[in-house]
Amino acid sequence: MQKKEFEQKTSEIAELIRGARRIVVFTGAGISTESGIPDFRSPGGIWTKFDPREFTYQRFIGDVEVRRRAWQFFRAIPWTDVQPNRAHYAVAELEGLGRLDCVITQNIDGLHQMAGNSPDRVIELHGTTRYVICLDCRKRWTREEIEGWLDDGVEIPMCDVCGGIMKSATISFGQSMPVEETREAEERSRRCDLCIVIGSSLVVYPAAYMPIYAVQSGAKLVIINHDPTPLDTEASVVLNAGAGEAMERILKQVKAGLGKG
Ligand code: NAD
Ligand code: ZN
Repeated sequence: MQKKEFEQKTSEIAELIRGARRIVVFTGAGISTESGIPDFRSPGGIWTKFDPREFTYQRFIGDVEVRRRAWQFFRAIPWTDVQPNRAHYAVAELEGLGRLDCVITQNIDGLHQMAGNSPDRVIELHGTTRYVICLDCRKRWTREEIEGWLDDGVEIPMCDVCGGIMKSATISFGQSMPVEETREAEERSRRCDLCIVIGSSLVVYPAAYMPIYAVQSGAKLVIINHDPTPLDTEASVVLNAGAGEAMERILKQVKAGLGKG
């Protein structure tokens, strides 16, 4: 992309942000690639060794060997070491400026909260890798605790209260979406006046309905993503650029316009 086009589009987005009252930010794996967590669709990396589609909820429950592999996958990305990047910090700044209604994320990495967004403004549609739960009694452990068990040689953790099956608190393929989060995300999407998509291919449903609900309810849509998405035609601005560089630039312009730059 030409520098001129980048400048033009980032300032248009900044203008939309300044004019909006309720902003919903919708994020996908692309906002976290600059933190070193690869997305699904880029070639190579972790997803060639582990395919999460192999760990459907039904297979996880029904097959102890699938669970053994799923717990190896649990350790395959050093989740506790990853840090937020410029894009996450820019989204947190939007909250600091009082512009953000909420972040709806498909990500399971917890980086929005680490960047400074308040946890009650982050809706995690696909759960989180930061916790492990017992599927029977719902006891919850932190990832660090269970990493300790695995370090001690446990291969397939079982609940120490009820003996139930334990699972990372993420939503697997074949598992139903979290009811409360999905309801709240829909409601907030329908109420916002600006929806900003950052780093999502917008092909994973039902998550990708959220920006559609926003548009249907009259909100403006902005898409910041490397690649084209099926919703590009609905957007007021589509910026095919890196999330970090784009969001940093946009926030600078927003703050300058508000006299806070
Ligand atoms: P996706 O992999 O389908 O798409 C990511 C999109 O981000 C792509 O269209 C790509 O062009 C774009 N992208 C990549 N790096 C970018 C960058 N630096 N700047 C701008 N755009 C960039 O991701 P998705 O739509 O979120 O759906 C995949 C599913 O995978 C989600 O449901 C999510 O739960 C899961 N997932 C999560 C993580 C995470 O938590 N970080 C990582 C991988 C996958
Ligand atoms: Zn239990």
